[in-house]
Amino acid sequence: MEEPRKDVRKEPAPRPAEGGEASGPAPLDFIREAVAEDLRTGRFDRVHTRFPPEPNAYLHIGHAKAISIDCGVAQDFGGLFNLRFDDTNPTKEEQEYVDAIIEDVRWLGADWGDRLFFASDYFEQMYQWAEELIRKGKAYVCDLSSDQVSEYRGTLTSPGKDGPYRSRSVEESLDLFRRMRAGEFPDGSRTLRAKIDMASPNLNLRDPVMYRILHATHHNTGDKWCIYPMYDWAHGLEDSIEGITHSLCSLEYENHRPLYDWFLDQLGIYHPRQIEFARLNLTHTVLSKRRLLELVHAGCVNGFDDPRMPTLSGLRRRGYTPEAIRNFCKRIGVNKYDSIVDMALLEHCLREDLNKRSPRVMAVLRPLRVVIDNYPEGQVEELEAVNNPEDPASGTRKVPFSRELYIERDDFREVPPKGYFRLSPGKEVRLRYAYFVKCDGVMKDPRTGEPVELHCTYDPASRGGDSPDGRKVKATLHWVSAAHSLPAEVRLYDHLFTKEDPSDVPEGADWKSNISPRSLEVLKDCRVEPSLAGAAAGSRYQFERLGYFCVDPDSRPGALVFNRTVTLKDTWAKMAARASGP
Ligand code: ATP
Ligand code: MG
Repeated sequence: MEEPRKDVRKEPAPRPAEGGEASGPAPLDFIREAVAEDLRTGRFDRVHTRFPPEPNAYLHIGHAKAISIDCGVAQDFGGLFNLRFDDTNPTKEEQEYVDAIIEDVRWLGADWGDRLFFASDYFEQMYQWAEELIRKGKAYVCDLSSDQVSEYRGTLTSPGKDGPYRSRSVEESLDLFRRMRAGEFPDGSRTLRAKIDMASPNLNLRDPVMYRILHATHHNTGDKWCIYPMYDWAHGLEDSIEGITHSLCSLEYENHRPLYDWFLDQLGIYHPRQIEFARLNLTHTVLSKRRLLELVHAGCVNGFDDPRMPTLSGLRRRGYTPEAIRNFCKRIGVNKYDSIVDMALLEHCLREDLNKRSPRVMAVLRPLRVVIDNYPEGQVEELEAVNNPEDPASGTRKVPFSRELYIERDDFREVPPKGYFRLSPGKEVRLRYAYFVKCDGVMKDPRTGEPVELHCTYDPASRGGDSPDGRKVKATLHWVSAAHSLPAEVRLYDHLFTKEDPSDVPEGADWKSNISPRSLEVLKDCRVEPSLAGAAAGSRYQFERLGYFCVDPDSRPGALVFNRTVTLKDTWAKMAARASGP
């Protein structure tokens, strides 16, 4: 089910906690209050939750919110958490998705112990219960086509009317249902329906379909079944079988709850409690499986794990940590009303975590050659560089310095605008961990006029980055040694959509037209410091002054590939500072 975005309020999302990390147990939200209440009143004497994905696509960050709530509630109350596949629709589900979901949930750190379940393993029990409802006169086989079913159902403003098969005898329904199971009838020719109330103001209660005929191979049960249960019928039974106490789900299920309760009550079986929370919506992206599938199938992205995707596999490939995602989920909390959270908050949580854990290295993305004319030819110095100022235990490393270097093109302007303190002719700057250098001349491409090589002199007395005479410079640049640095490809990412709300398109236009042409920029001629030679896929670094980067799985020794996870600039921190006044 997809959430309409149009009438969603945009809430100022929570401000970053003082001092960074939100730590300790989450404060009591309305779900935890309800659970605590149930324990107090004795409605339940334990807590057991589940995360019930349908294996019809990859998980996205919205699912991380659901997992954080499901698993977090169990943890906070010393309870249990199940991972259960709600695999009741063989036409859309695949083993690939099952495997990817297991990997993603495990990566997030949610622990289901040995409780990995499949709804399809309960099909026989569900079938027996369906027969029981028929025998109780609470369900019947209906021969209406799906169009006719909708016709009889009525609308939000008009009641439905009883169909011709509603009064079918128990014996006839039972016989037909058994023959449906036996495969005697073609797809779509009959359904099993609950006999509730065709005039109910809640459309979900107007004799909902419980089973449909579908001759399809299931990834788990193969060809054993040709009738498949519908979500509303199946879900409560799955929860009941597993002894779930609190069935937590998103708001779109709120008006399905009466049905959830009705089935369990009619059968008189163990009855969990369903509680709904608001889905996560994020700016500049889509959190709907249908749309994510569409992006993949239309070739707008390179698969579900494209680092621009809000899928957990995409975020992982991009360099997100599970800690950052978990902390983000804690920060946004549990709410009852739909809102849209600013992507800047997610990125803020990411930076907070990466800042603590990422080793610093130097890399030049758009190299400009620098020759230090007064530096002895052939000389190489190993300069000491700090690995992570946030983590003194991470120590230092050696970075080679030589006569020919690369700096960032952006760090030189032949004609510096006002307030530009980086390198320009006649100006002196500091090279990080190295020396003061002054620019004496520029060689330019005669055709384009672009600078291709700078000539500089260095001050040997300023080794380490300070001049003994107390001379000040206003800029410190990163650099790599030309001969020692390694070539690398760097992939820069921006928001996948230009608009905060990707659905915001003119009448009739495709939402995919909002895809940002700048969402991916590939730089092929980057240079990184030699310590990165053996960097393994998934390792994360801060490239000094540029942002956080991680090694892509495409990376090979000698052909390194990095993804920019996020830049250093923190728009969220700025927004929060503005909100709290001067
Ligand atoms: P569909 O569009 O098929 O309904 P879904 O995203 O709801 O997709 P499920 O596999 O049913 O897919 O999701 C598993 C659980 O994750 C559900 O309980 C659902 O409530 C929850 N969930 C899905 N999307 C979000 C979201 N954006 N924010 C919070 N929870 C979500
Ligand atoms: Mg759903």
